Amino acid sequence: MKWEKEAREVVDAIPIHEVIKNMVILWAEKLARKNKSETVTMKEVTKTRDDYFDFLGQETMDRIQKMRDEGMSDEQLDPMIELNKGQVLYTVDLCHDRFFGCNRAMVNTREVGKKVKERMESLNITQIIADKCHDVLMPHSTFTVSISGCANSCTATESHEVGIYGVADPMVTDVECSQCGKCTEICMDGLVHLENGKPVIDKNNCVLCGACIKYCPTGTIKAKDEGITITVGGYIGRWKQYGKEIFRITDESKIYPVLDACVDLIKKEWREDFEDHFSLVIRRCGVDSIQERARKSS
Ligand code: SF4
Ligand code: SF4
Ligand code: SF4
Repeated sequence: MKWEKEAREVVDAIPIHEVIKNMVILWAEKLARKNKSETVTMKEVTKTRDDYFDFLGQETMDRIQKMRDEGMSDEQLDPMIELNKGQVLYTVDLCHDRFFGCNRAMVNTREVGKKVKERMESLNITQIIADKCHDVLMPHSTFTVSISGCANSCTATESHEVGIYGVADPMVTDVECSQCGKCTEICMDGLVHLENGKPVIDKNNCVLCGACIKYCPTGTIKAKDEGITITVGGYIGRWKQYGKEIFRITDESKIYPVLDACVDLIKKEWREDFEDHFSLVIRRCGVDSIQERARKSS
């Protein structure tokens, strides 16, 4: 699509990571199509700016500006580049909280990602997988870890061999409810309604995203418990499977024994005569030994 020179210059000057900038460009082009225009003009760029401002909020916009003012490069802004660099047989995916923070995040994805990489390195997982793989090494041989800041799970955590995401379990307290309705609006699954002036939560279907807690201005809905969910064994491919929940709500320290236990299983059970990725081992052996070992660890 064509762009007016001034409109393109404005977008090129936005102090944001290239990955997000590409989304901004696509959004402006979509608006132009909606306006039946073959050229993106300042009209679409202005509307795009307002739309992203509304979505991200003042706090995030200030954070983005500060990071750029401090001179952070695109590479520094995207920790995934460093996490997945070099000859490694693992990948660590982080949700877009990694760029400049996300209001929904309950996990510091940058920090956890760094620690996960350190553990993978200390476990020597690359060499272990390389020695176990029965076929030449290809991207599907990598051990995949996916980290999302919340249960929205923007990195599709359950489709990775280890999935980690932040969670918070909501509960209704005795604090008076102002009946503002924010909790009913924010729950994407419609699990909160007001009854006799108080919120009622359908806990059976709650995914622990924590949004109703974050958006309740009075503290009527609070977190009963918070932490992370860990899943193991997810894979998308011929024998697709969702990762199995090893811990529904636990603390970050459990990630590392889970990784240790995965490597133990790789060492003991990987069939070098025909297996070429870890999820096949999980499919055959299950996740009980990983869960048991991680539960026992202090
Ligand atoms: S997973 Fe949650 S925290 Fe991460 S980008 Fe998505 S909504 Fe934000
Ligand atoms: S925690 Fe999330 S899914 Fe559960 S009730 Fe609140 S908003 Fe809905
Ligand atoms: S967000 Fe909080 S104060 Fe508002 S209706 Fe829900 S429980 Fe009541």
